[in-house]
Amino acid sequence: MALDPLPQLQTIFGFPAFRGVQEQVVTRVLAGERTLAVMPTGAGKSLCYQLPSAMLEGTCVVVSPLIALMHDQLRAATAIGLRAATLTSVDENKAETRGRYLDGGLDLLYVAPERASTADFRDLLERGRPALFAIDEAHCVSEWGHDFRPDYRLLRPLLDAFPEVPRLALTATADAHTRADILEQLGIPHEGMIVAGFDRPNIRYAIRPKDNSTRQIADVVRDTPGPGIVYVQTRAATEKMAAQLTAITGRPVRAYHAGLDPAVRARNQADFVASEDMVMCATVAFGMGIDKPDVRFVAHAGLPKSIEAYYQETGRAGRDGDPAVAHLFWGAEDFARARQRIGEVEQHRQPGERQRLAALGALVETAGCRRAILLRHFGEHPPERCGNCDNCLSPPAALDATETARKYLSAVFRTGQMFGATYIEQVLTGQSSERSLMNGHEQLSVWNIVDGEEVALLKPVGRALLLKDALRTNHHGGLEFGPAARALLKGEATLPLVEPPKRERRRGGRAGA
Ligand code: ADP
Ligand code: ZN
Repeated sequence: MALDPLPQLQTIFGFPAFRGVQEQVVTRVLAGERTLAVMPTGAGKSLCYQLPSAMLEGTCVVVSPLIALMHDQLRAATAIGLRAATLTSVDENKAETRGRYLDGGLDLLYVAPERASTADFRDLLERGRPALFAIDEAHCVSEWGHDFRPDYRLLRPLLDAFPEVPRLALTATADAHTRADILEQLGIPHEGMIVAGFDRPNIRYAIRPKDNSTRQIADVVRDTPGPGIVYVQTRAATEKMAAQLTAITGRPVRAYHAGLDPAVRARNQADFVASEDMVMCATVAFGMGIDKPDVRFVAHAGLPKSIEAYYQETGRAGRDGDPAVAHLFWGAEDFARARQRIGEVEQHRQPGERQRLAALGALVETAGCRRAILLRHFGEHPPERCGNCDNCLSPPAALDATETARKYLSAVFRTGQMFGATYIEQVLTGQSSERSLMNGHEQLSVWNIVDGEEVALLKPVGRALLLKDALRTNHHGGLEFGPAARALLKGEATLPLVEPPKRERRRGGRAGA
């Protein structure tokens, strides 16, 4: 076929050239081939179907999961000059939109999956001319994906009813398992998968356990000039963190969460986008659809939901290509809580959730290159070391803490698997208290068996044991054995520990300098 997309790219979009894999994807689509495009956020997925929609005769049907997102896309497409419409429950001009489709007057028609899978909609399509099916956020079709939506499963019969119409699935976030599932569920051949590079070389990754996360984040805020985003886990925490950071650092700090008055929220967002030095404390809802290329740092005060989420959230830093840094401060209790939540989801989804958490555990725990772990997660084959993450820049010394771990576990066992970490540490270091006297714990063989330099290992060992699921916390915060405890006690497993981190050296100057 002699369709050359480049001149159209320039005249319709005003872009001089394709970016990354866009050309490959568009070429396949124009050739009528089924395709899955895996491209990180910001890589320009929409263009991959918008451009063909302008070039192909007929209408490109875009399946998209969120009405708000569809209306954003509609605005963007219309601004470019494409003839586009949405067909959703909130649209009052549905009859008019149907008419435009039937008259061949639409390049793009956006629909939600639950509508796309109805007989009515299939009827409508048959009476007009569909040119392409674009399935956005395609990971929603997979139960392995982090955002499974049963409605996506109903799309297949519609696609199969138009076997000649090419299909293009798009997603930013899919591990190998999810990708294979998308191909299978949507009937796309394996060679139809095109994966863009996920590396963001200008972002320096730094991950460490939290001791006092407010102080740790305040250090980041003070030491990193330029706009920054601090992600915290609850709405209340955004406002609290903003107040604390303002007091400690004196920098301009705002809060952002879905519960704020819409006017305040809009103003905070607009001020942030315009500012060259503002810090935004936000829940992860913040950042979607915000175009601010000069964010110099992103800091997480707690564990993200998944590696995909971490990648996406940190990816909001340094879009201009200049150095930026992504800090993550995690706590063992984050893992304990995540495990508890997994116990509450439907049985058949638990293995996937568990795997996702284990992947995060590997990322935060590694003494090796963070970027290598991230990129391998996205199916790439990166070099062993990147030279631009905390572990590459100052390699931590690994330490065998198995002996201390055994002492720790014994203390938990002998005190009856009901006390919290602080008490266990007191027992191991022989700090007498009314409680230890009353409980008769000073007579135990584990009383006062840790001293000297080993004392500094207790907290990191406790954390590592929780992370490895050798220990779990009960509802009262007491520690009890998890499935991995036995192997450690029996000498069948070891506990290598990344040396307890010294306080990070203060960095002056620019992020990543
Ligand atoms: P995604 O959906 O993958 O997150 P978008 O489709 O929203 O990304 O595109 C991200 C930004 O990149 C948009 O502002 C878009 O206009 C821009 N963009 C896309 N393709 C190109 C290109 N070839 N050249 C320049 N800018 C582009
Ligand atoms: Zn590295």
